[in-house]
Amino acid sequence: MTLPPPGTLPERARSLAKSLGVDLPAHEGGDLVVRTPVTGEAIARLKAQSPADVAGAVERAHAAFLAWRLVPAPRRGEVVRAFGERLRAHKAALGEIVTLEAGKIRSEGLGEVQEIIDICDFAVGLSRQLHGLTIASERPGHRMMETWHPLGVVGVITAFNFPAAVWGWNAALAFVCGDSVVWKPSEKALLTALCCHAIWKTTLAAFPDLPQDIGELVIGGAPAGEALADHPRVPLVSATGSTRMGRLVAPRVAARFGRTILELGGNNAAIVAPSADLDLAVRGIAFSAVGTAGQRCTTLRRLIVHASLRDELLARLKSAYASLPIGSPLEAGTLVGPLIDGAAFEAMQAALMASRSQGATVTGGARREFAGFGEAFYAEPAICEWGEAGEVTRHETFAPILHVIPYRDFDEAVAIQNDVPQGLASSIFTRDLAEAERFVSAAGSDCGIANVNIGPSGAEIGGAFGGEKETGGGRESGSDSWKAYMRRATNTINYSGALPLAQGVKFDIG
Ligand code: NAD
Repeated sequence: MTLPPPGTLPERARSLAKSLGVDLPAHEGGDLVVRTPVTGEAIARLKAQSPADVAGAVERAHAAFLAWRLVPAPRRGEVVRAFGERLRAHKAALGEIVTLEAGKIRSEGLGEVQEIIDICDFAVGLSRQLHGLTIASERPGHRMMETWHPLGVVGVITAFNFPAAVWGWNAALAFVCGDSVVWKPSEKALLTALCCHAIWKTTLAAFPDLPQDIGELVIGGAPAGEALADHPRVPLVSATGSTRMGRLVAPRVAARFGRTILELGGNNAAIVAPSADLDLAVRGIAFSAVGTAGQRCTTLRRLIVHASLRDELLARLKSAYASLPIGSPLEAGTLVGPLIDGAAFEAMQAALMASRSQGATVTGGARREFAGFGEAFYAEPAICEWGEAGEVTRHETFAPILHVIPYRDFDEAVAIQNDVPQGLASSIFTRDLAEAERFVSAAGSDCGIANVNIGPSGAEIGGAFGGEKETGGGRESGSDSWKAYMRRATNTINYSGALPLAQGVKFDIG
């Protein structure tokens, strides 16, 4: 495989961004380098915004929120529907931007845009179903109910690896819930953010009677994220990224009694039981372990395989790995694109070295170099074979490394699966119904996602997404995740003409 000639991709990225309405020169002149991992070339150098700029964006979004919260929710849904329509029209261009900036293969770049379209559809339906409860009162002539109200400005901090979809999940729900959003994207994925923002702003401009500042974008690194986390007018911060980042952000928000949705690192596993359909398991494992070059929060990192199957499964996986098309994600047929940068490659090598020193046998993991592109980091996915899991398997390395760990009985498999600090995604390949049920039961997987006969990766928007333990406990996207974006009021309404007190309390004042 070859890479496109120097200069081709930066020019392509710039012209796509322009076609999506981004005025790139207006943001240039700083030291935040927009880079494509496909060739490692710089596309632009953007200015970081200051904490004062972040505060300005929050104030604008707050002022817009005061009007937006009064717009009937189904009308808010109309705006989100229009946004989904515009994304459909620009899906190819935006998907290509994701490919160029995050290095995802084309179908995944497009899939990421599709995720936003899907959550827009979901949110439009939701805009007519933001329902509360009616609750029986113990007092005669009284009624109790729950009302859900818009919350305020939602701060959204996103990671590089889902540069568009994670913002979409948050923003579509927040908008129909009557909130405004200030988005601080990853400094490694600024072009995608600018493009999404431009599409959003053009959508909203077609509704001139509505407040125009309900979706703001701030560009910067950790200081911009910190300014968002600290701002008293941001009642909810939804932060996606490493556990390290969550540890810094969560206490800052908690210190001012703000709320967080934390979507942090994972260390996801699949159990392969003796009854598993191995053809299906090999396909599921390969997609989950090497797809997106191992850079999904839900990437399969630990394969817990019954000892009786270990050799056969390893042989099949190694043979699948040997023929993996690795190279430019723009080329049809490529399945493994680049790592995001040199630091990611170094972290991968350090984890492989630690695996070797802790007793694993390592296959793969070498760099695939492309002459003339020293800043592009492509790596062969690696397999680490363990007798007993070493310390390194307890950590998330954001690269395509699959640790293969044998087990002897089901309880041991579940214990290994759960014995890590993270709790995002998990799965089991089995045709034994009782085993499958035990895996998804209270005594089974301790993760936010527990699948049967598919890998841990590749969630749909209909379910709540998120994980336990060091993954942060947040839930986004489908099911009733919307409730985190609203505030709940309990109302008691007295239509009796008397004033009986709850719990039989007497308080007569003559
Ligand atoms: P990262 O933690 O380096 O950065 C994520 C975001 O946090 C960026 O926008 C960054 O600027 C910001 N940030 C960093 N320090 C901050 C601080 N002190 N205050 C405020 N903001 C700060 O993560 P990354 O390398 O971009 O992404 C990879 C990580 O994200 C992996 O650990 C992956 O598992 C995780 N991730 C989790 C999910 C999920 O849903 N659980 C989804 C995608 C990625």
